Amino acid sequence: MAASLLVLAGCVPTTHPLELSRIGKNVSDAAMEQQLPAPGPVVVETVTSATWKVPLSGLLNLKDPQAAALQDRDEPIAVYAHVLRHPVHGNFLVDTGVSARIVQNPSDYGLNWLLQKVMKLDQMKLQKPTADIVAGLNGPLGGVFFTHLHIDHITGMPDIGPEVPLFVGTDEATATYFKHGATQNATNALLANKAPLQELPFTQRPAPLEPNTFEAVLDIFGDASVFAIYTPGHTAGSTAYLVRSTQGPILLVGDTSHTQWGWDHGVEPGKFTRDQAHNRESLRKLKALAARHPGMQVRLGHQ
Ligand SMILES: [Zn+2]
Repeated sequence: MAASLLVLAGCVPTTHPLELSRIGKNVSDAAMEQQLPAPGPVVVETVTSATWKVPLSGLLNLKDPQAAALQDRDEPIAVYAHVLRHPVHGNFLVDTGVSARIVQNPSDYGLNWLLQKVMKLDQMKLQKPTADIVAGLNGPLGGVFFTHLHIDHITGMPDIGPEVPLFVGTDEATATYFKHGATQNATNALLANKAPLQELPFTQRPAPLEPNTFEAVLDIFGDASVFAIYTPGHTAGSTAYLVRSTQGPILLVGDTSHTQWGWDHGVEPGKFTRDQAHNRESLRKLKALAARHPGMQVRLGHQ
């Protein structure tokens, strides 16, 4: 009885320790956007840590009328880690790529045979394991900012030191959902013995919002170099990062759009998404942001 109630109510993604982040200052969308024309101080490198193939019906809502001509199939994608080099604050990752240990011994990290099968782990081919990315930093890793906590975004954790601060969006670690029952053990195992998760201190603006206003925006370091944009929908705490790089603004979308087709057509992900309508709205706002700043580079969740 208790077990079935638990399944119905859903469970949290992870029971890993959680605390409130001490960094991040809430700012207006306008305060963020007025900084974007000038190049910033951060060097960004997006690394393909692994290639992968997963069903298109997970990556895209194939029920959308625009997707009528698309058939479900295994779609080639990549698993990225984004390296941010800040001249004052140091080196950071946005998401983690894939550790070689995950590919070699998945069951050591709670990825049982069923999860391996569902995730199509046999289709994951390492290109640059997380350990190599971290070794190439030329200095310590100052923190990891997660776009969200789905397994494929924490698969680099075996190669991340226990002292490295870890940051997630509001509600990402605490929102209940029935699908978390299948992944909580693996998420806990991947985070085991690592630093507590720090929840970014987004102050959600009261509804109704103006159509193109985000639900919350943070200036991470207080120097207008890296902004976190609260974009819930794909998961409860999905977060995009807008980096003022030496090459101009770079938007790290996360899985609010996994695919190029989804971004181009404004169609949200499919079965991998928690709340389609909310995901679509967050995607629309990110596209509108990019359209207002034509020099912005856009880097999607998996393509
Ligand atoms: Zn993903």
